[in-house]
Amino acid sequence: MGVFPVSKLSVVVPCYNEEESLPLFYQEVSAVLKDMGTDYEIVFIDDGSSDGTPQELRKLAAADSRCRYIIFSRNFGKEAGMYAGLAEAEGEYCVIMDADLQHPPGLLPQMYKAVTEEGYDCCGGKRKGRQGDGALRSFLSRSFYKVGKKLTKLDMSDGYGDFRMMRRTVVDALLEMKEYNRYMKGLYSFVGFTTKWIEYENVERVRGETKWSLKSLFSYAAEGIFSFSTVPLKLAGAVGILLFFAALIVIAVNLTSLSRTDLLLFFILFLSSLQMLFIYILGAYLSRDYLENKRRPVYIVKEKGGERI
Ligand code: UDP
Ligand code: MG
Repeated sequence: MGVFPVSKLSVVVPCYNEEESLPLFYQEVSAVLKDMGTDYEIVFIDDGSSDGTPQELRKLAAADSRCRYIIFSRNFGKEAGMYAGLAEAEGEYCVIMDADLQHPPGLLPQMYKAVTEEGYDCCGGKRKGRQGDGALRSFLSRSFYKVGKKLTKLDMSDGYGDFRMMRRTVVDALLEMKEYNRYMKGLYSFVGFTTKWIEYENVERVRGETKWSLKSLFSYAAEGIFSFSTVPLKLAGAVGILLFFAALIVIAVNLTSLSRTDLLLFFILFLSSLQMLFIYILGAYLSRDYLENKRRPVYIVKEKGGERI
């Protein structure tokens, strides 16, 4: 007590080849932040851009002491950018925003209110619809989130992106997850905390183009599933059971007149099911080791109260 809480708001912005969007982003976001009247900083992360993004960031930092930047040695991906930005941020509150203005700065005051006054730990923007995205891409994304939700048992849904404002406790919990393969949507869900959602209409990016090809979306989807689910490792178990029943059926159906081929088929199916069973056992050990290796925290504390006796 006695220490006045620093209610600084840190805006974390991962940038990859965004030289054209950056000046517009800076203008719009600064205007909104100034209006809000809170202390703030903007932390840009250049994710190994090959265009003039680094020069643009140096210019912004030289002109405005509230702007800081980190330049990566190469492209490490948006997840790494967000991690670096959150680690660098000083604020009691942090918000992650895309540099292309697809995350409307107009939502910031409402989000800030949610985490400072309304008692939420986190406030996220939920994008309505996918106008501007192709039909195939929308379909694939939606299907991925459906499958992902089932496999990982985490609350990952379409539209819930990285546009989130968080209290320091949430940021620290995310930073505590030190795994290398970072799938942020899963991590948000893993750390928990109360989140308020504010819906917004999908807007097209101001300048430049999306950095996501269909191929990179596929590997992103795979990352999500493999980082949070060990179900694929255990599939062998299900196949083993099926094969075992198939072997029994072969015997049961031909019980009275078992031929040599029936017996052969039985043995093939039975031995395959045994193999699958052992692969499953391997998978079960491997999946435990895999999860242990991530060294995720066993629990995350939100609040403590009362005196220690
Ligand atoms: N981005 C990044 N590293 C990458 C790809 C993207 O830092 O390897 C940044 C990008 O500059 C933008 C944000 O992540 O600020 C979202 O990227 P983009 O707009 O291309 O994705 P989309 O909105 O199409 O999903
Ligand atoms: Mg975008």
